Amino acid sequence: MVIAAVAMGAFAAATAGQTLKGDDQQQSADVQPLADSKNASAAIGIGGDSSAAAPSFLTVAKPNVQTSGAPVEAQKIAASDRIVNARAAKLAAIRAEQNRPKFVRPAEGRLTSTFGARWGTTHYGIDIANSLGTPIVAAADGVVIEAGPASGFGLWVRIQHADGTITVYGHMDSFSVYEGQHVKAGEQIARMGNRGESTGTHLHFEVWEPGGMKIDPLPWLAEHGINV
Ligand SMILES: [Zn+2]
Repeated sequence: MVIAAVAMGAFAAATAGQTLKGDDQQQSADVQPLADSKNASAAIGIGGDSSAAAPSFLTVAKPNVQTSGAPVEAQKIAASDRIVNARAAKLAAIRAEQNRPKFVRPAEGRLTSTFGARWGTTHYGIDIANSLGTPIVAAADGVVIEAGPASGFGLWVRIQHADGTITVYGHMDSFSVYEGQHVKAGEQIARMGNRGESTGTHLHFEVWEPGGMKIDPLPWLAEHGINV
């Protein structure tokens, strides 16, 4: 066993351009060749018996450390790829958030009634008619401050927006938001219906100024790029 180790050292030393002459140099022959990782690896391949080689070849582990460095580098690259991808996804999300519409027509359909005097009273909103169940969406980002039954409206949803303006949605068949919920422009809040004082399936839509005054929704929507 020991002979084999010495022989391997000699082989390694020889290939490293050194000559094994005596006991003094045998020591160096056992150590120095190991500095050359290729030769040391070759010696292990020749020697075969690892139990004998182990004491003098302990440093042979070094080349393995070097070779296992590749996966570590690969992991670093994969990790940096993930960071790059995450950053790209974040930027895409920011861009999508910037580009998404901040005001949306509250429902698709036909404008059947406008704001103002109607039937001897005042109609404080606009009516958009369509079929039962047509999606009704938030006209702008905001917080739902009320969702439930309301006199005349059947059911209503009221959403308060950042500047204090409140949009009101009435007569819906059902709603799918709750008080306190944050909604975004275009997010569905209800389905069109014919509840309350209503003569056909439609959305009754109102806009209340922060002070509580009900204003004509059409110019308000137009101001924000929505033409009903
Ligand atoms: Zn109406």
